[in-house]
Amino acid sequence: MTPSLRPDRLRAFVGRIASLVDAAVPEAHLLDAGGAALRELIAHDDWLPDAFAQPDPERYQQFLLHADSRQRFSVVSFVWGPGQSTPVHDHTVWGLIGVLRGAEIAQGYHVTPDGALHERGAAQRLNTGDVDAVSPEVGDIHRVSNAFSDRTSISIHVYGANIGAVSRSVYPDGGGRKTFISGYSNDLLPNIWNVSKESAIP
Ligand code: FE
Repeated sequence: MTPSLRPDRLRAFVGRIASLVDAAVPEAHLLDAGGAALRELIAHDDWLPDAFAQPDPERYQQFLLHADSRQRFSVVSFVWGPGQSTPVHDHTVWGLIGVLRGAEIAQGYHVTPDGALHERGAAQRLNTGDVDAVSPEVGDIHRVSNAFSDRTSISIHVYGANIGAVSRSVYPDGGGRKTFISGYSNDLLPNIWNVSKESAIP
């Protein structure tokens, strides 16, 4: 991590989410206040180490940035190479998505009682600085795509669980539903706790 980076921003964000989770606030309040905290985090692009901003030519990357010690929440950087997108998937827990670089297209879906998948409203474009929410309460099934075919986009997500370990569902293009556990792309996490080294930060 170069000295000019601002790991304090992610540390402060993690602290704010932890306070909301500790207070067991209703989900609507959590999405609102957590969304405001995420908007502040992504208002600056000076804190994400390059190692967690690297696209892969094969598929989008999900780098764990922080996991709560009790797995009550996790923070992930999603890195979308040009034209990459997720399959249609659900989360089963609350989540907030904030675009740090570039732009994304999010299309919501709902499943009818007969198991068919239908688009839920129009696709939303999320530009740098925008925040979106998912949850079983507010709409949990979506597909997210890089809005650009010629550049990387990065979004920062926070979820109400250790999301890489949660058993959830993808909805393949041919129909049906498959269980998946996403895991993470990285083995090492950014060090946001080297506080004594931060005295040089203006
Ligand atoms: Fe998602």
